[in-house]
Amino acid sequence: MAEVLVYVDHVDGAVRKPTLELLTLARRIGEPVAVHLGPGADAAATVLGEHGATRVLAADAPEFADYLVVPKVDALQAAAAAVSPVAVLVPSSAEGKEIAARLALRLGSGIITDATDLEAGDEGPVATQSAFAAAFTTRSRVSHGVPVITVKPNSAPVEAAPATGTVEQLQVTFGELATGTKIVSRTPRESTGRPELTEAAIVVSGGRGVNGAENFSIIEALADSLGAAVGASRAAVDAGWYPHTNQVGQTGKSVSPQLYIANGISGAIQHRAGMQTSKTIVAVNKDAEAPIFDLVDYGVVGDLFQVVPQLTEEIKTR
Ligand code: FAD
Repeated sequence: MAEVLVYVDHVDGAVRKPTLELLTLARRIGEPVAVHLGPGADAAATVLGEHGATRVLAADAPEFADYLVVPKVDALQAAAAAVSPVAVLVPSSAEGKEIAARLALRLGSGIITDATDLEAGDEGPVATQSAFAAAFTTRSRVSHGVPVITVKPNSAPVEAAPATGTVEQLQVTFGELATGTKIVSRTPRESTGRPELTEAAIVVSGGRGVNGAENFSIIEALADSLGAAVGASRAAVDAGWYPHTNQVGQTGKSVSPQLYIANGISGAIQHRAGMQTSKTIVAVNKDAEAPIFDLVDYGVVGDLFQVVPQLTEEIKTR
């Protein structure tokens, strides 16, 4: 059976959820072969094997930790040469997209970014994407070279699928560009205890209707009752009510959770661009004519200052 390379996003061997989602999609088009770079391959291999990786190609070198993405591209290129895959799947993070773009260039391949679904096709894998600020859904395939495809977090379920997950060493020769940009310091972001916005299964967002930084506590309380991440519209961010890192939309982050709850957000096209692929959308807005209601699965016409705390209390009782 044809093999599919899956780039492993991990922290010291702790595999992050988007990679397990990639394994689910990879199994639809072939046998997943995971590429693990950096320390912790043996620990990661257990988890990767439990989710369908037949092999884990592992390489560890200081270059992966000390320099920006080029060493990882060198390694993926080596893996692609060793395996001749039918596709290379990479999580759609900022780093993942840069790796994918550089890899596609190296392989002379077409690339599809931010796919939200993937299926086998007669002429290669077919990816679903949302285009033009989510006004269209497209299905496309790469027509040249080994398809390099980045997939948005939460696009597929994590499924157990026992496979061998055998670790094999990957030989990597670094090119002269590999050490071109050295990482000089890392500043970990202060943890809020909430999930990462782009990976969260549930996102609770607030907009201009929240009417002040101090009122975001009710959005956070609802998020915490659901174990969700907090998002914000640009209006709320520009007003200084919530950090820019939490902005959802065209010029913010693109999210695709199982559940998106928009509170006091009108539903401008630029906001929709970042959340329209969410599986279930709920909005709370006091204006029954707000455009957000055109795309919701469930809408509450009401004052968020009454509705959101009631919802939080109700969820806490369950
Ligand atoms: P508004 O449009 O002002 O809507 C506020 C809503 O809250 C209204 O519908 C109102 O009825 C409701 N409301 C008010 N009070 C209450 C209450 N008490 N209870 C319930 N509902 C209430 N926007 C983004 O979000 N993300 C982006 O990435 C982004 N990028 C952009 C890029 C460009 C180039 C441009 C031009 C714009 C971009 N915008 C983006 C801005 C976008 O056009 C909108 O201005 C913005 O999304 C509006 O935010 P909002 O919905 O919070 O505010």
